[in-house]
Amino acid sequence: MASTLPDHPAHAPRDLEPLGIEVPSSVPTHWYNLAADLPTPVPPALHPGTKEPLGPADLAPLFPMALIMQEVSTERYIEIPQVVREIYAMWRPSPLIRAVRLERELGTPARIYYKYEGVSPAGSHKPNTAVAQAYYNAAEGIKKLTTETGAGQWGASLSMACALLGLECEVWQVRASYDSKPYRRLQMETYGATCHPSPSDLTEAGRAMLAADPDTTGSLGMAISEAVEAAAKDPTAHYSLGSVLNHVMLHQSVIGQEALAQIAAAGERQADVVFGCAGGGSNLGGLAFPFIGQNLREGTTTRVVACEPAACPSITQGEYRYDFGDVAGLTPLLKMYTLGKDFVPPPIHAGGLRYHGMSPMVSHAVHLGLMSGVAVEQDDAFAAGVMFARAEGIIPAPESTHAVAGAVAYARTVKEPEVIVIGLSGNGILDLPAYESYV
Ligand SMILES: *Cc1c(COP(=O)(O)O)cnc(C)c1O
Repeated sequence: MASTLPDHPAHAPRDLEPLGIEVPSSVPTHWYNLAADLPTPVPPALHPGTKEPLGPADLAPLFPMALIMQEVSTERYIEIPQVVREIYAMWRPSPLIRAVRLERELGTPARIYYKYEGVSPAGSHKPNTAVAQAYYNAAEGIKKLTTETGAGQWGASLSMACALLGLECEVWQVRASYDSKPYRRLQMETYGATCHPSPSDLTEAGRAMLAADPDTTGSLGMAISEAVEAAAKDPTAHYSLGSVLNHVMLHQSVIGQEALAQIAAAGERQADVVFGCAGGGSNLGGLAFPFIGQNLREGTTTRVVACEPAACPSITQGEYRYDFGDVAGLTPLLKMYTLGKDFVPPPIHAGGLRYHGMSPMVSHAVHLGLMSGVAVEQDDAFAAGVMFARAEGIIPAPESTHAVAGAVAYARTVKEPEVIVIGLSGNGILDLPAYESYV
């Protein structure tokens, strides 16, 4: 269906100078890079043909040089451009809230806090990197970003960022989700983006897929191939990825840096355990890496638990080895916990957690014993999400309910006062049909 919305001036280039907005000092001035504090380096991405470490020239057709440099950086702190901080200030710092009613419901002596990323305009943590990526692309003269989206949260976040920074945005949305989640598509179109169901007849990859199976419902791997092909063929366009890569983990570090300061301001000595949900690893890494860095530098003892769906358990069941990021085997090889690129996760409701691999940085941290993983059954995740909604008022995104479930199960075993932090990566307002099938 063609968009009925007017062509929005989002497509006109924006001035990239700061607007002179006073940004509170509680909005971080720098991103934190865990690579600076790791005892051994994160294994590099390899070229799929030569199997040699990837160089900047390999990535230049798809990404701006600023992001390519961030991808391999080992600097501890990287300055956040003021234009990006001004946009962050629309919703950052995001709140850290004590879940007193949930504690009472559980009868736990633990003090439970949640760091809530659902306050962003798109409803999740994803704009933290979408805005940064759109900024660096616009600054290097790029006119359009292409991307894929499965559940729709990433497409919506990048559409918003492109509108704010004057870029066109073209999104390939997995056919099954395009058909079943019209609100996400309307959200993207309202921001001025163009959204195609994938596979489409607009790319060679899509046409081949349609020829093989005209009724296919698509997959994330297919949509990635289409978005990459479209960017590679258009010299004014780049491609954008919403998770997994090192520069995404970097941008998401605003979450954990704020949480560290907020935990201290709440009078706590340290967080004892941090729970985050893990799909590609970005909200978890963003929240947890500043805590892990503090452990490594200052000897704090915060534990980190990655909560993944039992139906797609890359950390708890996968192998730690080099694998492709997509199904077709076109992407660089990444060293990560993987279920294998051909693993097809069952259609669980937490669409954002259906990925066969895991961020190389998160994988490396798990491998070094700096964090651990648990697998959560879908029913337990929704039960925890409903309990959280009834105690705290916020309906968590289906992905976020996995972190809540991990924390709830743990809090029930706690005998002494302890500090638990939950990464609540998004709200579930556009995912209520998923709750309907549970309730
Ligand atoms: C996309 C998404 C996730 C999963 O992605 P990560 O990179 O693992 O964070 C989790 N929660 C929400 C709300 C999402 O939109």
